[in-house]
Amino acid sequence: MRTKLMAVVVGAALAFSGTAAAQGTSAPAKVGATKKAPVAATRGKTEVTWWGHAAFVIRSPGGAVIAIDPWLTNPKAPQGAAQPEALDAILLTHGHFDHVGDAKALAEKTGAKVFGSFELINLLGLPEAQAVGANAGGTFQVKDVTLHLVEAVHSSSYAADPKSPAQYAGAPLGYVLKIDKGPTLYHAGDTGLFEGMSLIATQFKPTVALLPIGGHFTMGPAEAAQAVRLLKVKSVIPMHYGTFPLLQGTPDALTGELKKLRGTAKVVAPAPGATTAL
Ligand SMILES: [Zn+2]
Repeated sequence: MRTKLMAVVVGAALAFSGTAAAQGTSAPAKVGATKKAPVAATRGKTEVTWWGHAAFVIRSPGGAVIAIDPWLTNPKAPQGAAQPEALDAILLTHGHFDHVGDAKALAEKTGAKVFGSFELINLLGLPEAQAVGANAGGTFQVKDVTLHLVEAVHSSSYAADPKSPAQYAGAPLGYVLKIDKGPTLYHAGDTGLFEGMSLIATQFKPTVALLPIGGHFTMGPAEAAQAVRLLKVKSVIPMHYGTFPLLQGTPDALTGELKKLRGTAKVVAPAPGATTAL
């Protein structure tokens, strides 16, 4: 069943500094044979590679390669892993440095279209052909992936460099990725818990949610468990935890909170650099 997450880690934890345990995270999911960042998706599968923090690279069965919040140089990113050479799209949830990350350099290298709020995309100063400034409610097609931009409850500002004052960067966003013959993924961006998640469930029927669990700036494990309930997803991949000491939530805590709600969704917590086939 293609839409059922099978928790198969087909790629590997490329060498990265420190173990998940040492980083205050729970044990990673099973890690299979080592291989470099995959070039194409496993036949018929969607591959989701977590780069640590909120950064993911998604490869669809139809060949779309999409990076989300590509801070690929974050403290938990797999050391020495090859960054993607080809990207069709880069999705930005909001303007904070830990989400825009390496988007500009990746856009320049790959020619990918960059999606984000109208205001953020204007601030980035990308070539016109690559800049897709949009907002919640927008729908776009990237090969076999339909993107829906949805709300998030957070803030958003952008500073071109850490010394300059941050500028207003529009509303924060989440993304639903409806993949032909594959899962429907929901990347929540940075967000608190909000009732509109039940509307996202009704409208888009996501099967896998990528949810922040670190707390402090976003939902913690208890709120993320409630989000899983509202979203009615079968699986959840936690993110935005363990990167900094402030982000205290852990996948184990999320599992515990889901149990309290008698939830049946599976928590899949890959190590940074690992690829999960869906
Ligand atoms: Zn943020």
